[in-house]
Amino acid sequence: MSGNEYLKNVTTLSLDSEKCKGCGLCAVVCPHNVFAMKNKKASIINKDNCMECGACAKNCAYGAITVKSGVGCAAGIISGTIRGTEPSCGCDKGGCC
Ligand code: SF4
Ligand code: SF4
Repeated sequence: MSGNEYLKNVTTLSLDSEKCKGCGLCAVVCPHNVFAMKNKKASIINKDNCMECGACAKNCAYGAITVKSGVGCAAGIISGTIRGTEPSCGCDKGGCC
């Protein structure tokens, strides 16, 4: 497991290669090196590294990427860091995930 890997096979990330125009922006903006460019198309090389931040989908002008992103877990991690408590997004109470 790499340092950026999350749970296996749970990310909602999806790439439609037919729609990809090869601009490379998804590979630039992804903070976890999920994409690589191969033969002028984006390719998912580290799917389990995806933290569903949504940056790739927001930056793809061709609608080739879909991912169900949310701020719940990120907000939980940030507030836990600030407060010095366990990171929690409250999903155990029926929240974001
Ligand atoms: S941002 Fe979209 S069009 Fe550009 S390389 Fe990535 S998937 Fe392809
Ligand atoms: S959602 Fe975020 S972490 Fe996942 S592939 Fe897109 S940019 Fe990378």
